[in-house]
Amino acid sequence: MGWVDTHCHLFLVDQPATVLLDRAAAAGVDWLVCPGVDLETSLAARRLSAECGSRVRWSAGLHPHDATAWEATSARLRSLAVEADAVGECGLDYYRNLSDPEVQRAVFAAQLAMAAELGKPVIVHCRDAFADVHHAVEGAGLGEAVVLHCWTGGPRWTRRFADLGVTFSFAGPVTFPTGDTVRRAAAVVPPERTMVETDSPFLTPPPHRGAGNEPANVVAVGAALAEVWGVTLDAVAASTSATATRVFGVGASPR
Ligand SMILES: [Zn+2]
Repeated sequence: MGWVDTHCHLFLVDQPATVLLDRAAAAGVDWLVCPGVDLETSLAARRLSAECGSRVRWSAGLHPHDATAWEATSARLRSLAVEADAVGECGLDYYRNLSDPEVQRAVFAAQLAMAAELGKPVIVHCRDAFADVHHAVEGAGLGEAVVLHCWTGGPRWTRRFADLGVTFSFAGPVTFPTGDTVRRAAAVVPPERTMVETDSPFLTPPPHRGAGNEPANVVAVGAALAEVWGVTLDAVAASTSATATRVFGVGASPR
């Protein structure tokens, strides 16, 4: 079984998707999820999926940075989400606080409700906002359909979120020399509710730091989990891909 990159913004990578997908396939990546962050990029993600077939799954949603665009775009995002493989990425970002926190919370709640209503998984961005994301996710009661993307919480928050039955997705930070907290989180996470991602074009794992990230590098994230868990790379590929297949509702046969 190969790898699944559960979070890569292909439309932001400065290379043709076909080239990235070929390199990903050569590295053993079977399929990936391309999340939209606003209306325009959700449309771009849908276009890529239509062009590339079942190797590219996609989502429609509004990132907390742009939460103020909700009023103008929510109706179109909702109709896209009906077709999409997931809702998001959405969530709370109190690190950059590019949108008013109160607006962020309302728009996140609306997208959690949308995911529940449509029966879709929801891709969640959480930065410096653990308590409020926990509160919102607890209220939504979506279990493993909530995907905490690029998980960087420490062991305490990891346990609290794990108690809600959510799914974790690790990215480059678990490979970084500075990533001890994330690796301590990986040590307590339920492996059967854990996935891997690149968050391309961001967060490139070593030894390629400085270069743009791409889906092929998801294997480096998996290798970091293999080291923390004390299992083989193949075991991590099998377990994280099985989780991705279950969470994103991907059947054995291509769409
Ligand atoms: Zn993202």
